[in-house]
Formats: sequence, structure tokens, C-alpha cells
Amino acid sequence: MKTLRSVSMNQVKIEDAFWNDRIRLVREVIIPYQKQVLNDELPGVEPSHAMENFRIAAGESKGQFHGMVFQDSDVAKWLEAVAYSLATHEDPQLEKVADDIIDLLSKAQQPDGYLNTYFTVAKPGQRWTKLAEDHELYCAGHLIEAAVAYYDATGKKKFLDVICRYADYIDSVFGTEPEKKKGYPGHEEIELALVKLYRVTGEERYLKLAKYFVDERGKQPNYFDLEYEKTSDKSIFRYPDDWDRSYTQSHLPVREQTTAEGHSVRAMYLYTAMADLSLETGDGELAEVCKALWDNVTQKRMYVTGGIGSQAYDEAFTIDYDLPNDTGYTETCASIGLAFFAQRMLNLDPDGKYGDVLETALYNGILSGMALDGKSFFYVNPLEVWPDACYARHDKEHVEVIRQRWFRCACCPPNLARLIPSLGQYIYSYTDKELFVHLYVGGTADIGLENQRISIVQRTDYPWGEHVGFTVCPERDEELTIAFRIPRWCKSPTLRVNGENLELESMMDRGYARVTRTWSKGDHVELQLPMMVRRIYAHPNVRVNAGKIALARGPMVYCLEEVDNGEVLAQIALPKDATLSAAFDAELLGGVVEVRGEGLRSENPEWSELYREIRPKQKPVPIRAIPYFAWNNRGVGEMLVWIRES
Ligand code: ZN
Repeated sequence: MKTLRSVSMNQVKIEDAFWNDRIRLVREVIIPYQKQVLNDELPGVEPSHAMENFRIAAGESKGQFHGMVFQDSDVAKWLEAVAYSLATHEDPQLEKVADDIIDLLSKAQQPDGYLNTYFTVAKPGQRWTKLAEDHELYCAGHLIEAAVAYYDATGKKKFLDVICRYADYIDSVFGTEPEKKKGYPGHEEIELALVKLYRVTGEERYLKLAKYFVDERGKQPNYFDLEYEKTSDKSIFRYPDDWDRSYTQSHLPVREQTTAEGHSVRAMYLYTAMADLSLETGDGELAEVCKALWDNVTQKRMYVTGGIGSQAYDEAFTIDYDLPNDTGYTETCASIGLAFFAQRMLNLDPDGKYGDVLETALYNGILSGMALDGKSFFYVNPLEVWPDACYARHDKEHVEVIRQRWFRCACCPPNLARLIPSLGQYIYSYTDKELFVHLYVGGTADIGLENQRISIVQRTDYPWGEHVGFTVCPERDEELTIAFRIPRWCKSPTLRVNGENLELESMMDRGYARVTRTWSKGDHVELQLPMMVRRIYAHPNVRVNAGKIALARGPMVYCLEEVDNGEVLAQIALPKDATLSAAFDAELLGGVVEVRGEGLRSENPEWSELYREIRPKQKPVPIRAIPYFAWNNRGVGEMLVWIRES
């Protein structure tokens, strides 16, 4: 099984107009803002109490635990975001703040290595008694990810040492040995984190523990059922009768699962860990399970924006082709989880289809989670919004009509804060003699192959521009393969090396143009990816999108907004033969390519009754579509992705 390795943060420097702006926002706006939130320093924002919980657990402050059971994970995700930011941009002041927090974490750590403020402060003596919902192992996972990232970024070992002690303690509690608990987390996360810890420390026991947590899930009798029987605290939500085991993907052993079920973020973190395990251990059976789950998610249960989770109840997957545009859940974290899963699948089973979804999620369902100024966030990313109905309807209570500054359950903003500055890890991966380019993001990378190092410089105006230029510099001339992902949306790509046009068709292999040649210092590659405005049709079984189209250009999905097109967007139809043009507008939404065309709008001012038997009259109207990720940056209003085609 040929597998790839991702580049690390330290090997890539991003210099890209589109992404640098967003990485800068994380550094200058989101990280400082979240630090204030975690420290309860912002008037008008519900106190997070997350740092105070650690101070209390460390004995530095007195008081009660406040917040969600997983409040610790907000601190962990913030530290992880800081680590990625430091890896690409030195900031001694910020590093000092992070070091101080790490000192606090080490003081809050219990003598046996345990580190969780909820159970230390609020529930002493009750560790590991409510795994189904108390997120203990989930928080541990985020702490592990943060510690690994911080070590990678700074070389400082203190946080990693703290976390290894904690992981060793967890390893002493859980496992198949008779004296150990047979439990596993209600919310997956620690599994993928333990693989990272294994990679950075080389300690096999962390990999073994990750494998244990993955393989124990779903065995019968269900651990969470046993846990419920044992506990005196019966407050676990909806247990036992109305609690779907698939919510935690514990309805079946993971190797028997073929469809994506339950809470979509949980599912993505689990599948990511499964792919990681397969990568590390060569477990072919697990790889096949991952492929089947991937196909189910992306071919039957994913929105065109890379959003997943089509209902608010349980924040969950439902059934194939059930993708309601206005009530779906499409949590930002779920799309981020899909990006994690895609990255692992690219390495496990190099195929452009994973890169295509990674790109779709990044530029659409993930970025839509954040306002252009980085100051407010969506938890839920619908594809159709009628604000008045969101205010009025209980089944749309989860749909915010404007991004929020913070959430009581604040998973999404810190997840964006850690994903965006870590983008460097997603652009390339490699084997001994092959370099894969998955994403078109400007910058430089320096990658160690089998016999030498190769540096590659990428220059592009992607996602608005169609041209990507590369300068390739191996240490010495050698025959190597560089594989460029050709996005499936691109119908007429061209590729030139040192000015010479290459015959692309013969080079295509599973979505990549593989250029095998003796590369020399300064070789120049030009990739042209023409971006026509495309009309996307959904599978006929997606009932809600029958007769509708979504507009896209390059990796961007487009939407109509009320501010450009007037209210009642559903009255607009796009004729099949309507000409659509795309143009960059530097003044619009921080600089985006807009799409314009002529549509038809129902125009019937005399229509007063609710129903009548006269066909509505239509008149031509200009329409303007903007990239989906940028919607809701000009006030509250209607938004629509799927447009009627006439
Ligand atoms: Zn979230």
C-alpha cells in the first residue's frame, strides 16, 4: 500500500494574497479576542471561565467550576492555534502568554497525571464515570494536539511532558487488560491526537492506545449502556431509551460501519483517526472501511459547500440524499473535520477526489464560518436563509441570521483559529521520490525526499486567478515525480514545463497530472486551470434541489443575497441559456470574483390571494451572485445557493 506523508508546518511558508489575509486575521484579531474571552475580559460576552477553571484546579484561585464540561478544550484549541501561528510568525509576547498558560496547566495537573478541571473542581472522585457525555477524553485529545503543535512550533518540551504524563495515566486506565476499563470517549478526538503524540514521541503505546479506543467502540454490550446502569447520576441526556447509539458511532464496531451516522463532528474525528491508524499500521481492512465511509459522506450526504450534518437534532447525519438547504446543521467544525479526514485519505489512498472535497470544504463550508473581519462566526452554515422564518420557526432555532461574536458552546471559532494558520500542512505530501501538490496556495516549501531536499515555490492568484506557477529546485538533478491535482471542475487544464506544453491526458492518474522527469534547479511549471462559471445539478434523489442549480467558479460555490437581488430570492429563476459572466471586483467583500447574469423574476403586484389559477408573470432581471463564504457580511438578509432553473 503506497502511502504519503504530509509536510509539517515548519516546512512551508505561505505567501498568498487570499490566505495570508486570513492567517493574519487569526493572528491579529481572533487569537487576541479569544484570549480575552477565555480570561473573561470582555464586557457583554458571557464569561467563559475557562482560564479561571484552570486557576481553581491549580489552587491559585477559589471558586466553582463554570462552563460546559468541555470548557478545557477551548484553552487547548487556543494554545494549538497559537502554536501554528508561532510556527509561521514569531511573536515573543504571545509565546510568553502561552508559556504562562502552560505553567498554569502543569500546576493544575494532578499528582497521577490527570488534567481536567471539570472533574478536578466540580466532580472529584467521579473520573471516567460518564464517558458517554462528559468529554473527558475529548478534552484530553485537544490538550494532546495542542502540546504536539506547541512542541513542533517552539521546540519547547514542557507542555509535551505534561501531556505525556497525562496520556500515560490514561493508558494505565483504559485497555483490554482485565484490570482496565473497557471504555472509550463519547466524543471522539483523543484517537487522532494519540496518533500525533505517537508520531512526535515515537512511543508505540500511544498508537496502541489510539487503536484500542477505535476498535473498542461499538462492541457489544455497548459500554455506554453498561456505564448508564452503573452510575447513580441518571442525568445523561435522553438515556437510555431515546438515545441513539449511532450518535456516538457506537451502534456497531467501527470496522462494520459502511454509512456515516450520528453526530457529524464526532464521526469526522473518528474517521480521521481510523485513516491515521491505517496509515501508521498498514491496516488494509481499516483503509477499506474509511473509503466506504468517505464515499457515503461525499456521494450521498454532503452539501455542495462541503457542509455535513443535515439535521439539528443530534447535529447529525440522517439518510442518503436528505440535504435540506434551510434547516441543515452543517456545523463549521464538521466541515473542518471533513478537511482532516480528506487530508488523511489523500495520504492513505492518493486520489484527487479527496483533494477536491478538501478544497470545496476549505473555500466554502469552512470559511463561511467566519466573518470577513474575523470578529464573528457561524456555528451553522445553511444554504438558504429567510431571516423572518428563522426568527419564527422552532425548527430553525439553530440557524443564526447573523454571525455571532462567541457561543456558549464555543467549539467552532477556536477550531477555525487552529485550522487556518495550519493550512501549510495540507498543501503538499510526499513519498521518497514523489511530491504531490494538493492545494494551490502561494508560498514556498522545503521537503526532504529519499536522497535529497527539494524546494518548491508556488505563485498564484487562486482562487480567483486561473494560473499557478511553480519554480522547482532540487538539491541536484534527479528523476522525480511531481503530481499536480487537476480539480474535477476544471475541464481544459494545461501544463507547461520550461515553456513546453505537456500532453496532460496521458499523465493523468487518479486526479493528478504526474510529471516524471529529471528535475533541475530552476525548472518552471505553469499550470492553467480555466475557471468557467459552472451550473451544478444535484443527484435527482436530492428532493429539495429538483429543478435547481448551484453556481460555481473554480473552487467557489456562489449564492444570491438579498442586498444584491432584492427580497424573496425564491422568485428568481435562471434560464437554461442565460449567459453568466465573472469579474473580479476589488471593492466587493474584500475583493472577490462576482458572477452576473440575467434571470427571471415573478412579478405580480396584483396577486393578493394566496392561491390562484393563473400562471405567474415573469420579467427579466439582472442577478448578481457572490462567493458563498462571503455571504452575510453586509447585514441581515435572505441568501440562496440553489436557484430555480427555467
Ligand atoms: Zn463547532
